Amino acid sequence: MDFDVLIVGGGAAGMSCALILGSAQHKSYAENKKVGIIFHQKTSDLQNALFNNVLGLPAGTTGAAILKDGPKHLEKLYPKVIQIGKEKVLKIGPIPSGFTVETNKNRYRAGKVVIAAGYSDLLRIKGLENYIIPHKKTQHEKNRIQLINEDHLVIPNLYVAGSLAGHRSQFSIACGSGAAVATDILTEWNNGIHTKVHDKLK
Ligand SMILES: Cc1cc2nc3c(=O)[nH]c(=O)nc-3n(C[C@H](O)[C@H](O)[C@H](O)COP(=O)(O)OP(=O)(O)OC[C@H]3O[C@@H](n4cnc5c(N)ncnc54)[C@H](O)[C@@H]3O)c2cc1C
Repeated sequence: MDFDVLIVGGGAAGMSCALILGSAQHKSYAENKKVGIIFHQKTSDLQNALFNNVLGLPAGTTGAAILKDGPKHLEKLYPKVIQIGKEKVLKIGPIPSGFTVETNKNRYRAGKVVIAAGYSDLLRIKGLENYIIPHKKTQHEKNRIQLINEDHLVIPNLYVAGSLAGHRSQFSIACGSGAAVATDILTEWNNGIHTKVHDKLK
């Protein structure tokens, strides 16, 4: 396998998931796990967003700044997380004990995949068609979509996070969803013993 976990999408949910997985890499159950994130930010809706109502983000923070700073934050604190920028995921397919993830440039193999690609009905990732349904928490006319899932799990080892998981589109909700998936994965690596990653002042 190229990756133990490969995250698709570097917005609120995907980056939050990557940060928490990265922050656990000093734990014995996570230290040898290879985590990657693929993002294709040019077409991100976040480019036009302005945030005044997100706890912890200074009022006036732009989505464009988050798209620029998120990868830098991840690289600086958790450089073991492999960042694959400027690649668009086109196809996901099952293989024994995992998935292949094909982009416009490469093909990767991963044991677990987290889809955090936003809830636009323009999402065109082959292999996900059977799981797409209309978004349950958005006005019908907006044509938003989600993946069928139970507590973020679509099928074993395939997770969905953020607005594509069926959550309402608010930045904090999407971050929380990505964090929830990360801690579910960490708990699995920790033999089912519930886990979280907290830093504290000495
Ligand atoms: C204009 C605007 C204003 C907003 N204002 C607010 C606000 O004031 N307060 C608030 O709480 N929320 C606001 N939001 C909502 C908030 O930004 C979203 O709820 C949140 O970003 C959703 O997170 P997500 O991770 O689900 O999706 P996104 O943050 O959209 O991330 C999805 C990422 O996946 C990438 N991607 C998609 N397809 C692929 C692919 N095939 N391969 C690789 N990468 C892919 C996209 O480029 C994108 O970067 C606003 C949104 C917009 C668009």
